[in-house]
Amino acid sequence: MSKSKVLLIYTGGTIGMMQDAKTGQLKPFDFKQLTDQIPELNKFDVTLSAISFANPIDSSDMQPSVWIEIAKMIEKNYEKVDGFVVLHGSDTMSFTASALSFMLENLNKPVILTGSQLPIGMIRTDGKENLITAIEIAAAKEKGKPVVSEVCIYFEYQLYRGNRTHKFNAEHFQAFQSANYPVLAEAGVHLKYNYSALKKGNLPAGQAGGKKLKVHASLDSNIAILKMFPGITQNVVEAILNAKNVKAVILETFGSGNASTQKWFIDALKKAIDKGIVILNVTQCNAGKVEQGKYATSAAFKKIGVIGSSDITSEAAVAKLMFVLGASSNKKEIEKLLKSDLRGEMTI
Ligand code: ASP
Repeated sequence: MSKSKVLLIYTGGTIGMMQDAKTGQLKPFDFKQLTDQIPELNKFDVTLSAISFANPIDSSDMQPSVWIEIAKMIEKNYEKVDGFVVLHGSDTMSFTASALSFMLENLNKPVILTGSQLPIGMIRTDGKENLITAIEIAAAKEKGKPVVSEVCIYFEYQLYRGNRTHKFNAEHFQAFQSANYPVLAEAGVHLKYNYSALKKGNLPAGQAGGKKLKVHASLDSNIAILKMFPGITQNVVEAILNAKNVKAVILETFGSGNASTQKWFIDALKKAIDKGIVILNVTQCNAGKVEQGKYATSAAFKKIGVIGSSDITSEAAVAKLMFVLGASSNKKEIEKLLKSDLRGEMTI
């Protein structure tokens, strides 16, 4: 059987950072230096190729334009390789994984994002294992078909559905969690896939019922997040709802989708909705879901047209809104898409 082909896309992040001699700060270095640190890559039974960003970035500098760049790199190489590994900083990895999941429609190959908490040059780095296993997953096939055919994050022995993740720890090697969806695979002595949780593969183009990869490269970032806290003032709420060009606001609520019942607050939301602004209710909790109307403190939301978004993460909600607003300007369609599970990002 021919060797699997995997394309590495190096965007930056701690995995490929080095300490600046003068300031002591961590800065990204180039891809050649990165692979020099991992001679194990040459022993792989996988044909590896790589593309590196000319200027690798700390992922805190991530922009939707870069997501589009990554998606286009995947599109350009889609027929040439069996899978992709995207090396990326962990800080915004969940946002990028979510965005790619929406942008890559009909995906039937693995796109695995990984990175590390310690640079690859450090003796105790977590980067080597992360990268090596991510490549193994991107190359994995059973009966000639890819085992994974979705956008994932591999980090510290676990494979997650990318749009279900949240970076919850800046200190531990286990930096991510997927509280509302099971882990897709666990790496121990064996790589154990959780087959029932993996997305069913889309059929490749050319086969009966197969669909061609469709890359959505239009994202609209005119959105905002309004995070609730006890004591939030009318000025702040109105400033966000009335911010110039804002088309949609993620309302980060308490518990199962609850917030203040004060009249000025509900009136402000209603006014925004009447003006055509989409309000999406996402819980601040890591686990569990929004259930508008369960408590009196969310009953008004349902009435005025706030959209409940079940158990979606804030990261996936940001990416989904940018994707949906980029795809349509029809209010009914936007609402329909937001209420639908498009890429396994929420339970409905
Ligand atoms: N600041 C880094 C980044 O996100 C952290 C990391 O790579 O884990 O690029």
